[in-house]
Amino acid sequence: MIPFLDLKGLNAQYRAELIEACTRVIDSGWYIQGNECREFDKEFAQYCGTKYAIGVANGLDALILILRAYKELGIMNGGDEVIVPSNTYIASILAISQNNLVPVLVEPDINTYLIDPSKIEEKITSKTKAIMPVHLYGQTCEMDAINAIAKKHKLKVIEDSAQSHGAHFGDKRSGNLGDASGFSFYPGKNLGALGDGGAVTTNDETLANTIKALGNYGSHKKYENLYKGINSRLDEMQAAMLRVKLRYLDNEVEKRREITNYYLQNIKNENIILPTVRSEDNHVWHLFVIRVKNRDELQNYLHVNGIQTLIHYPIPSHKQKAYTEWNDENYPISEQIHNEVLSLPISGVQSLEDTMKIVEIVNGFIK
Ligand SMILES: *Cc1c(COP(=O)(O)O)cnc(C)c1O
Repeated sequence: MIPFLDLKGLNAQYRAELIEACTRVIDSGWYIQGNECREFDKEFAQYCGTKYAIGVANGLDALILILRAYKELGIMNGGDEVIVPSNTYIASILAISQNNLVPVLVEPDINTYLIDPSKIEEKITSKTKAIMPVHLYGQTCEMDAINAIAKKHKLKVIEDSAQSHGAHFGDKRSGNLGDASGFSFYPGKNLGALGDGGAVTTNDETLANTIKALGNYGSHKKYENLYKGINSRLDEMQAAMLRVKLRYLDNEVEKRREITNYYLQNIKNENIILPTVRSEDNHVWHLFVIRVKNRDELQNYLHVNGIQTLIHYPIPSHKQKAYTEWNDENYPISEQIHNEVLSLPISGVQSLEDTMKIVEIVNGFIK
């Protein structure tokens, strides 16, 4: 079976360095908020091109903490609205709900699967405080258009960069394209820890300090609590793992581009719609997502032929039981996407032989 993602093989490439980093942490005697975290924050901020990066426990917390900080700073209040794409992974939407803010869903573009800027303004009300573009599957959103709308209506732009580490828009990288950004280092992400992890990036010093305190019980100074904070910290062990893997991230992305270029050039099947890429620089290929009418049939056919695929995502958030209040609403573009998408295997260690085999089998699929 060709796996969807060979995580074990991926981390095995860095085994010696990971073990060395692990040993360094064990021997340091310091496991939370120490040198590894401080250095990772610096290195990740530098990579993204931002002034600040703050390690947190996971990607969901990164987004939750950004919004929470804006509330503490008086920029948002409970009941305010945040615009978010309707086809995103549910975590983006949960971060908004968890802050007692109201997610307002905007349909994506059917070709890029990214939030459609031309549909944002019609959803803006007097309660709208922010837009949360999601660089889904690893491709950056149309940030020029989004930032122009945000500027006109005085809204914050909060990027969900959980799938887009290193992706460019113009000469800037994901994480440096709005007011603040949330990253996930879930093991399967392009920059993955060996456990949970996340980070916030921003150029806003006040926001950065507030998030830092909020993630540490609301405290800037030990035993002095400014806010009713939470415990959401990146631990030293994961920071050390990430410092090793960050050095190879661009190289991993290059390998992903080789695979996806092969897919793009060689998959020839009239039933299958290939992904639309605006510019090679804009896409880091967290996922290679194709669209096909009889998706379940294709997935089954690939499974029978020894190829593991996944669906990102089978059920849209507005049809989930968690959001019963939305269950009767329709977002037809989103629903079509959820019914038709299929993600082909991709990882930095996938062999050309496997990629060629996948293409051959995909091309042999007859409706
Ligand atoms: C993975 C992901 C998250 C959440 O990250 P976790 O680290 O799993 O909490 C948020 N948004 C998107 C788009 C994601 O893919």
